Amino acid sequence: MNGLRMVDGNAARQPGEGVADMPRHARASKSGATDMGMSYGAICNDCGAKFTANEGGGFVFHLLHCDHCGAERAISFTEIGEPHLRYIKGLDVPYSEVTAEHDRHIQQTYPGEPMDRDEYEAAVEQLCGQCECGGAYRFDAPPRCPECRSANLRKDPEARRICYD
Ligand SMILES: [Zn+2]
Ligand SMILES: [Zn+2]
Repeated sequence: MNGLRMVDGNAARQPGEGVADMPRHARASKSGATDMGMSYGAICNDCGAKFTANEGGGFVFHLLHCDHCGAERAISFTEIGEPHLRYIKGLDVPYSEVTAEHDRHIQQTYPGEPMDRDEYEAAVEQLCGQCECGGAYRFDAPPRCPECRSANLRKDPEARRICYD
């Protein structure tokens, strides 16, 4: 006997006192088409600067980085407009759980031609235009150190990871 017992079911709960599970943060389902973004504390391996880096996007926008200086460019699905609808139409799963109902509606009713992911990302990159530095915003460009522009970063173990949106 180790004195540790699992107490099963309702026996452990006071009536009316919710021991309900904490609501879980909304996440993309495994079958969803996207990776949701996050912010994290980053440390530059070259100059040691600490800053907050953002990667990915949210349920209503994408986050791209300049392929030259690493500047961020957030672009909302509304701003993207038609290509986003065509991309959703081309998916056979919802873009995310949160937008599932909306996505299904688009898939069923949007009259335009579906667009695949490569075409879509190219269209979004085009819409984002050029960075002030002359670089181009890309989905696959990494965040960079604001001090020295190095992409050689590590995650700060002391900073909390924050999933956003
Ligand atoms: Zn740096
Ligand atoms: Zn730039």
